[in-house]
Amino acid sequence: MKVAVVGSSHGGYEAVRGVLQQFPDAHIDWYEKGDFISFLSCGMELYLQGVVKDVNSVSYATIPEMEDKGVHVHINSEVTNIDPDGHKLTVVDVQNGQETSADYDKLILSVGAVPFKLPVPGKELQNIYAMRGRDWAIKLREAEVKPDIKNVTVVGSGYIGIEAAESFAKAGKHVTIVDMNPTILGTYLDTEFTEILEEELKANDVDLRLSQSVKEYVGNSDNKVTSVISTTGESWDADLVVETAGIRPATKWLAGIVDLDDHGMIKTDEYQQTSQPDIFAVGDSTEIEFAPTGKKQLIALASNARRQGRSAAANLEGHKRKTTAVSGSSALHVFSYKFASTGVKDVTAKGLGVDVDSVFVTDTKVPPFVPAEHNAEVFFKLTYDPKTRVVMGAQIMSKMDTTANINAISLAIQQHMTVDDLAYADFFFQPGFDRPWNIMNVAAQKAEQKLD
Ligand code: FAD
Repeated sequence: MKVAVVGSSHGGYEAVRGVLQQFPDAHIDWYEKGDFISFLSCGMELYLQGVVKDVNSVSYATIPEMEDKGVHVHINSEVTNIDPDGHKLTVVDVQNGQETSADYDKLILSVGAVPFKLPVPGKELQNIYAMRGRDWAIKLREAEVKPDIKNVTVVGSGYIGIEAAESFAKAGKHVTIVDMNPTILGTYLDTEFTEILEEELKANDVDLRLSQSVKEYVGNSDNKVTSVISTTGESWDADLVVETAGIRPATKWLAGIVDLDDHGMIKTDEYQQTSQPDIFAVGDSTEIEFAPTGKKQLIALASNARRQGRSAAANLEGHKRKTTAVSGSSALHVFSYKFASTGVKDVTAKGLGVDVDSVFVTDTKVPPFVPAEHNAEVFFKLTYDPKTRVVMGAQIMSKMDTTANINAISLAIQQHMTVDDLAYADFFFQPGFDRPWNIMNVAAQKAEQKLD
């Protein structure tokens, strides 16, 4: 069997691994239009903050390693067309424009997404950057050490925007975050958490300009951006802008080849099969089932792309494995705080068309007799369906790492557990780690009281 995989980020890498494991005799052609395979944007923040020194190490695979496994790796190779009936690909060498044709029996697309570029006056000015992929990682790192870049504006306060803001603030730049939402991290956390994090950002010299968007970028005679004008008429200095205002699927070229939805997302079933039986698709250009609602939506996470890549590989010769529904679990630090969240939040419930209730609890991580230097306050919110009592989501935050709790809640959501299941669920106790009642028990017991 000849398997072609297009795209070498999370979804493509996992698909190749899956094919190697499931079909060791398959001939694998792996196409990537860039000049590097398997760059992990997830690791970009560690590179920008100097924890990881070599940009090329932010990767799971090298070309020689994959070739040793028998994979035929084609970099600088953009797949520009597919003939599904003839099982042929058009591949363009991006360095010399030369076009070739290649055969496949099964094809896995993991073409991902590209950053959304704001369509505002001044968008063509220099020093307006994005944050995705190795090329941007290198440019952002260079900008961090340029003395003439003093003021950085980050557009968008999702987790990528927060990573950019923290990295530039730690590099000594004055950072302004602009977001059209009234709070930061609007799809990740409710206000009990964002109010604390907004104060944390301000304390670290990050200005917040919320409930407004960019109206215009203003530049100088060198064509470099110098300031930002917002939709409220405010204006501030900017030597560099990092746009992190969402993504768009890289699928224009696939129109008429596989079915796309109105947003250009590739339509797949739960086996990652597209409208063409021998073409599978995974990652940020596809939707995935959101466990709390059972409906498909875009949840652009590497963890999802990985799971889908594994499924696609398993299903090449017949339906073997459905992609598991996910809850959009993610974690991040914002200076001294570490948080994680999963599933539905109060702030996202309306948009998802679900009715939820929630309880918010605070506790110390370990018993109060443990001295402050080994202890910290923990904030936890549990969200549930008030009619069925089913767990719908959770958020946790502390200066100590408590994020693993969110994986337990993700599992509870996947298994449709109720607050009653969680209230007395067995979680270990050891005073060096947690309390006799884990904060998840405490919150679920409070929810039971509220419901009864
Ligand atoms: P992409 O990563 O978009 O990659 C697509 C690849 O396909 C690219 O290499 C592209 O060059 C190639 N390609 C596209 N079209 C073609 C073509 N026609 N021919 C050949 N090659 C093509 N997720 C997490 O779970 N945890 C995190 O901590 C996390 N942190 C992140 C931090 C940042 C800064 C960013 C930007 C993202 C982060 N994500 C994180 C999200 C995660 O990176 C994405 O969900 C994941 O990369 C999606 O993988 P993908 O395979 O769908 O596509």
